[in-house]
Amino acid sequence: MSYVTGLKCRECGRNYPIEPLHVCDNCFGPLEVVYDYQKVRSRVSPSKISSRPHNLWRYRELLPVDTDHPTVGLNSGFTPLVRAERLGAEVGLKNLYIKDDSVNHPTLSYKDRVVAVAITKAKEFGFTTVSCASTGNLATAVAAHAAHAGLECYIFMPKGVEAGKIVGSSIYGARVITIEGNYDDVNRLCSEIADKYGWAFVNINLRPYYTEGAKTFGFEVAEQLGWRLPDHIVVPTAGGTILPKIAKAFKELKELGWISDGNFKIHSAQAAGSAPVIHALHKGADLIVPVKPNTIAKSIAIGNPADGYYVLRAVRESGGWGEAVTDAEIVEAMKLLARTEGIFAEPAGGTTLAVTLKLFAQGRIKSDELVVVAITGNGYKTLEAVANAVEDPCNINARLDEFDALYAKLKNGKRATAGAA
Ligand SMILES: *Cc1c(COP(=O)(O)O)cnc(C)c1O
Ligand SMILES: [Zn+2]
Repeated sequence: MSYVTGLKCRECGRNYPIEPLHVCDNCFGPLEVVYDYQKVRSRVSPSKISSRPHNLWRYRELLPVDTDHPTVGLNSGFTPLVRAERLGAEVGLKNLYIKDDSVNHPTLSYKDRVVAVAITKAKEFGFTTVSCASTGNLATAVAAHAAHAGLECYIFMPKGVEAGKIVGSSIYGARVITIEGNYDDVNRLCSEIADKYGWAFVNINLRPYYTEGAKTFGFEVAEQLGWRLPDHIVVPTAGGTILPKIAKAFKELKELGWISDGNFKIHSAQAAGSAPVIHALHKGADLIVPVKPNTIAKSIAIGNPADGYYVLRAVRESGGWGEAVTDAEIVEAMKLLARTEGIFAEPAGGTTLAVTLKLFAQGRIKSDELVVVAITGNGYKTLEAVANAVEDPCNINARLDEFDALYAKLKNGKRATAGAA
């Protein structure tokens, strides 16, 4: 059963039916899914949700699918919310949590959420070919979910993304096409291909459905905190999907009366080499001036973010803020997270943690407030980013005397770790 009543233009309010549409004919505004919250409230409750299987479909009444029994993404979502005690102690935050989508299933990033919903919707619409414009993580997620669903798959990425994301897409049998140019060039081409070939582009013509999947990140944070909201949540921004959708998730839970108090601040994190949203935020502007991305945080290197304006709106409405951090700060934060919590995030995660520390240093976050850091991707897919920033292994012959000598040296701190230097 569906609780969706239709699509609606976010700008002029015109209504549209549930079809593969994403822009308003009237004003070119983005379309958004509308739900009958009254009906949701009457049929579901937090306790009912809490008794369901640990995947993102536990929130299916708040997702834009018709089926009660999805067959895609049955292991996606419900990733750990980790109480980060060692990291918190080291940096001075007493109530610090990591929402860890670096272990999302099946492709180790937040994109498994949005793609599970988009592919389910593509099947409901009867598409047989799915596609996407991607900075890398979306590619692997679409390729994997398409394989599981038995759909044909074409992937478009800028040349220069990490090997883990190219191999990690091709392995599933997807056709991978790299484009001479950056993500914004890829996206422009894909809009033309979507029009001409009539494929399901998860982040273009299925965008209203796809983006709703990102709400599950927020639902889970609230549920895992015991149906309450954090004081702060820090979220990376690329195209601008996940941040406003987490804010929407929190607002829906309030609207449904499933959480009592709820004053959260949501903060945006970008890499300094691709920070068009942060520039606008700091200037107090609504207009986002596109940039040419140049950062190791390739998964969030989008110079002309489609939903950047909605990021600004969600951040400002919540009383939050945002910062940009350098590639060097990103690498340091990746190492800090790995060393203290055993979580190997990709550069987007280093960005988010480094921005969290900056907001704390600025006094925008207080040491006893409840803070959630959104870790959205896995470092094993981006080894290139830190390969030169960690210590090389020690190499010896397979002889005990060589190890004895080495161990004595290591004990003497002869080779301090790069992180402690
Ligand atoms: C796609 C992505 C994001 C955020 O992208 P939005 O387009 O802003 O939703 C963040 N982190 C990682 C690792 C990603 O792959
Ligand atoms: Zn409109």
